[in-house]
Amino acid sequence: MAGWVVVGLDNGGTTNNATVLDEAGSFLVEEMLESPSHVTNGPDKAIEALAQALDNVLQFTGVERARVRAVGLDTPGPVSADGVISSKGATNFSAPEWHSFDVRGALEARIGIPVVYNNDANAAALYAHHAYFAAEVAMTRSSVSAIVGTGLGGGVVEAGRVVRGAAGMAGELGHVWIPMDGLLADGQPMPRCNCGLAGDAESVMRPSLGPAAPAAAGPNS
Ligand SMILES: [Zn+2]
Repeated sequence: MAGWVVVGLDNGGTTNNATVLDEAGSFLVEEMLESPSHVTNGPDKAIEALAQALDNVLQFTGVERARVRAVGLDTPGPVSADGVISSKGATNFSAPEWHSFDVRGALEARIGIPVVYNNDANAAALYAHHAYFAAEVAMTRSSVSAIVGTGLGGGVVEAGRVVRGAAGMAGELGHVWIPMDGLLADGQPMPRCNCGLAGDAESVMRPSLGPAAPAAAGPNS
């Protein structure tokens, strides 16, 4: 008899990516299966799109729904450790209906399968940890990952498991103050982050990522 599987759903601003892993941790999908996320159409449409992504990947792999033991869901943050979107919204979830929305609970209620949640940086860090360390030692090792995307994310893994913190903010490396003494030129303003901090790691990194930001100009250029 075929064993159990877990399904991974990665939610983004425009696209959901889906995959299936078997009991041994092997991927049953070569590339991730993409579908529209409908995040900008509000929670109802977006939860339906995630349920559809689950159905699609099961159909694609020929796996019966009864074999799915759990679904692992990730979204961009800031989201609480158990999958409730920030009361102030988030870059990807800016519409008022998303504020304080329990995306993990809503998907679990919709599909009737246990849903485990991590923010996307923590999910990436967890993948990196298990991809880097061999299976025999991954559950005994620790790691810290810096995740470079639209912003600067991060994740801390201890003994093979993500450290999420009480508020889900553990490992948010981008929003840690860094000492700015001697780093700014005369008259150069202190960089500010969308999170409200001045001089945190993401605020310093962002000018080099943003297409609209002026290129760094030295005195001779
Ligand atoms: Zn910040």
